Amino acid sequence: MSYRFDTLAIHAGQPNDALTGAVVTPIYQTTTYAQHQLGGQPDYCYSRTGNPGRTALESSLAALEGARYGLAFASGLAAVNALLQTLSAGDHVVASQDLYGGCYRIFTKIFSRFGITFSLIDTTDVRNVERAITKATRLLWLETPSNPLLRITDIEACCAVARQRGIRSVVDNTFATPVHQRPLQLGADIVLHSTTKYIGGHCDVLGGALVTSDEETFSELKFVQNATGAVPGPQDCFLLLRGIKTLSLRVRQHAENAQRIAEHLEAHPEVRRVIYPGLASHPQHELARRQAAGFGAVVSVEFEGGIERVRSLIGQLRLWPLAESLGGVKSLLCHPATMTHAAVEPAERRRIGIGDGLVRLSVGIEDVEDLIEDLNAALEQSAGAKRQQEVPA
Ligand SMILES: *Cc1c(COP(=O)(O)O)cnc(C)c1O
Repeated sequence: MSYRFDTLAIHAGQPNDALTGAVVTPIYQTTTYAQHQLGGQPDYCYSRTGNPGRTALESSLAALEGARYGLAFASGLAAVNALLQTLSAGDHVVASQDLYGGCYRIFTKIFSRFGITFSLIDTTDVRNVERAITKATRLLWLETPSNPLLRITDIEACCAVARQRGIRSVVDNTFATPVHQRPLQLGADIVLHSTTKYIGGHCDVLGGALVTSDEETFSELKFVQNATGAVPGPQDCFLLLRGIKTLSLRVRQHAENAQRIAEHLEAHPEVRRVIYPGLASHPQHELARRQAAGFGAVVSVEFEGGIERVRSLIGQLRLWPLAESLGGVKSLLCHPATMTHAAVEPAERRRIGIGDGLVRLSVGIEDVEDLIEDLNAALEQSAGAKRQQEVPA
């Protein structure tokens, strides 16, 4: 039977408990399991290898992405790490240039020391992908929408190139979520998530995931998962499964609020630039419409007045805490240059377009009128502060 997304989010991988009928998958807070005989092949033997809550989470994540297999990790970067550990010295990776800062860091500071090389390129032009692939390339790494510039990569076109050249492709689908975008249907081999973001959705649990429909890829990743051990605990799996049940509702509200805020800010005189794929002014608005069912809920903004304006705004806002991360029910504001992307060299940041005046909004599910009024008030007060400073003493 093939159910639709909203039904899968409640049911997939989560049958009522066979022992008690509990309608919620129980938390098995155990490290090990009694085995009935020597040399048997029990479903569960040790919780690094498997735990019923994790099995439920992994099946659920796979179902949401329309995949056969899911693997859950202790964080998004643990999933990134596991995927990179399927590579060997001498291998080459082609990746989107304005990646999540932590991916950039693990590429350039860790795996480069083990003889793996990376080409960070503008994947919004598929010809750049074709040109960057060498004989040593093993993996094409796409992040779309990208972070924090929300550039859109044509998943279908880029993954087709990878497939033709016999290279695996992975799409970091953290920003879009499976509610809006299903990369496997567009030809990707693997989907990556930081489940810390929309999938958990409440800023109370870290997690990561890899899903795939390819059996060989799955076995390699499963081996790495068990051999290196960065698995989520039973409580984490419980919280993530709980988040998944409202993922679709939340993402719809997040996106509706984000669209309103993006439109409002775009028309605001104190705003220099708004980047949101749902705006007609976004250079890849049409592509975003075509490959996704929605535009996500991250809005990047440059205010008049650069970093000084950002500093004064942060002091005025009441509903937008300055914080790393995104995708939770509570709205957050982040300054990529000093926070999420501080690990990216300043020259590289400037090269890819992450200015010091850029702010990334993670739009929550509060009443959007309150969010807008708070932004308006803070913009007005900080504009006043700016004018006062400009008065000669
Ligand atoms: C947060 C994030 C990651 C890393 O995930 P963690 O759970 O923080 O380890 C990877 N990719 C993207 C796009 C992210 O936003």
